[in-house]
Amino acid sequence: SHSSSSNSETLQQQQQQEAESNAERRASNGAASTSSTAADAIGSSSSSRQGLRLELRDVSFGYAEGGMASGGGRQVLKGVSLSAEPGESIAIVGPSGGGKSTLLRLLVRLYDADGGQVLLNGVDVRELQQDSLRAAVAVVPQDTVLFNDTIVHNVAYGRPGATWGEVQAAAAAAQLDAAVGRMPLGWQTVVGERGLKLSGGEKQRVAIARAFLRRPRLLICDEATSALDTATERGIQASLRALAAGRTAVFVAHRLSTVQGCDRIYVLADGRVAEQGTHAQLMAARGIYFEMWQMQRAQQALEDHLQQEGGSD
Ligand code: ATP
Repeated sequence: SHSSSSNSETLQQQQQQEAESNAERRASNGAASTSSTAADAIGSSSSSRQGLRLELRDVSFGYAEGGMASGGGRQVLKGVSLSAEPGESIAIVGPSGGGKSTLLRLLVRLYDADGGQVLLNGVDVRELQQDSLRAAVAVVPQDTVLFNDTIVHNVAYGRPGATWGEVQAAAAAAQLDAAVGRMPLGWQTVVGERGLKLSGGEKQRVAIARAFLRRPRLLICDEATSALDTATERGIQASLRALAAGRTAVFVAHRLSTVQGCDRIYVLADGRVAEQGTHAQLMAARGIYFEMWQMQRAQQALEDHLQQEGGSD
C-alpha cells in the first residue's frame, strides 16, 4: 500500500542513521573492550538461543545513604539466592517494600550488589560490557517511555535497524495491530507527549512489541501496579507469555493471578526469599503466598461485585 511504502522509507532512513551512529559508538568502545569471553558467554553467537541461565548467589544490597559511595545503608536485599534455567519463567512476588524492584535494578545494573553475585551463564554481570548486557536483556517496564513521535517509530525504537516487516510482525505478536487499525492515521498516529493519546493497555503493548523486536535472551517484566480491565489484562498476559516462550524470563508481579503458570515463584519479604516453589506448592505450604492469594481473591470478588452494581445503575 502507499502508506506502508512511505513508512518504510522514512523508517529505513532513520534506522540507517541510528545504525551508523551505533556502529561508531561500538567501534570507539571496542578499544576499551574488557573481556571478549565474557561477552561471548551471553552473546547471540552462542549456539544456544533459548535463553540465558540467570543466578543470584547470596546477593545483598543497601541503597547508599547520605552520599556514601556504596553500601552502608539499610540492607534492602539480604542474602538473596535464586535461579532461572535457560527457557524458564520465574516470578518475584511479595509484600510491598520487600525488594522486588530493587532486585530488578541489580539485574540491569542500575546498581551493583554489595555482596554476592548476579550471574548470566555463570558470568558475573560486572564483567560484561554494557552493550553486551543491553543486547541480551529486554525490559518491559511498569511505565513505558514513549516519544512524541509516530507509533511505528515508537515500536521501531526497540531495535534500530529493524525492517518494516519486522516492526509489523512484532506489533502483531504484541496484539498492537488491532488498536493501530482503529486509529484514523494508523501507524502514522503521533502518540503525543508521554504517549497521552494511548490507553494504558496500548502503551504496554508498545513496550511488548519493542521487546519482541529485541529478541532478548533474558526478558524482564515489571508488572504495572495500576490494574487494567480484566479483558485487557488477559490479552496483555497472553502476549507476554508468547514473548517469554523460548527465553528466560523474570516477572515481577503484584497480582498473583498473573504468575500462576511460572516454573517457579519466589516470595520476597523484607529482603529475603521467604518461600519458593510452584503455585501449587506455595498454596499447599499455606504461608505468605497462600495468605496473599486469599486476600487478593477476596479483593477481586469485591471489585467484581461493585462493578456489577455500578453497571446496573
Ligand atoms: P512494591 O511492591 O511496593 O513496588 P518492592 O518489593 O518493589 O515494593 P522496593 O521498591 O525494592 O520494594 O523497595 C525495597 C526497600 O528499599 C523499601 O524499603 C524502599 O523504601 C527502599 N528503596 C527503594 N528504592 C529506593 C531508593 N532509590 N533509595 C533508597 N531506598 C529505596
